[in-house]
Amino acid sequence: MEGIDFEVKELVYRGEGDTGDFISFDPGRCDGCGLCVKVCSAGLWSLREGKARLAPRYRELCLECAACWEICARGAVDFSYPAGGTGVTIRFG
Ligand code: SF4
Ligand code: SF4
Repeated sequence: MEGIDFEVKELVYRGEGDTGDFISFDPGRCDGCGLCVKVCSAGLWSLREGKARLAPRYRELCLECAACWEICARGAVDFSYPAGGTGVTIRFG
């Protein structure tokens, strides 16, 4: 069976307007497990000195999947969707 071939970034439309900060990270809760690094399809998390780090440009690169928030058992990541009209919209076809 043939797979569907597409580029996610071709489906992503970014609205106008300032999203504000919609992800927050508490390094005091982070145990450096690295799961956020593994689940982020946009590659926006990294580990440095035993703690996670979110890319400074996340506002313009994040796909708003909330996987980093969902996977973090330590409650170190908080996520909320940006205000309507800002952030990303996924378009199909
Ligand atoms: S999933 Fe949570 S605890 Fe694990 S590295 Fe990421 S922020 Fe830290
Ligand atoms: S919401 Fe998704 S794309 Fe954005 S930083 Fe978290 S895991 Fe990565």
